[in-house]
Amino acid sequence: MHVPFIRNHQYNFIKKQAESLQQALRTIADPKIVESVRYSAETKISELFPDAADEQKRMLGQIAGLNTSEDFHRYLEALKPYRMEFPSITAKQIQKLFPKNKKLKLPDLSAIDYRQVSYLSWTDIATQKLFMVYPMNGQFVGIEGRYTDTNKKGFCFVCNKYEELVLFSAVSRKRPVHSSADYYKAVGNYVCAHSQECNKNITDMTALEHFVDTVIG
Ligand SMILES: [Zn+2]
Repeated sequence: MHVPFIRNHQYNFIKKQAESLQQALRTIADPKIVESVRYSAETKISELFPDAADEQKRMLGQIAGLNTSEDFHRYLEALKPYRMEFPSITAKQIQKLFPKNKKLKLPDLSAIDYRQVSYLSWTDIATQKLFMVYPMNGQFVGIEGRYTDTNKKGFCFVCNKYEELVLFSAVSRKRPVHSSADYYKAVGNYVCAHSQECNKNITDMTALEHFVDTVIG
């Protein structure tokens, strides 16, 4: 029985550590330096799971002993069944998060692999709108705004990788006291044009959570 305990961004982080170690094994001749990369990968991963049970720690810590590409492949495959899914959400629940959008266009929810999702996001080309759903402190939050194609690559504010970007302009729900009825503040950010790619890249939720916080107040 596999009890899931690894979130999508944590799995991506482990994968990134495995890749750096493999890179070090391929390119660095000095065994002392390779050892320090091993130690660093093991430590960074264990720090991600301060509450891990002994068996989980043992499994994660195996990274320190890997050598061949088969070793690394086996290690990452063995962790896959322990990935946690994005919390389940229905079309109705999503609709409720965006009450102003009477004809909300939704992605095919049945086609999504929820173990590879940290945040749900999709666009509506007709209205040029981008939607995001994120479970903030256990509660779903919906964020919407306009998006503009940039047709350029750059660094995404969510995953921090060099990807094809769109400019996402979300309307802040935060209102200063005594603000006029037409008060409007947009929070603009460059984000991956393809959220599926972003979800595969993301290793840290801090930037997205900060953004959600800024928008919802
Ligand atoms: Zn991204």
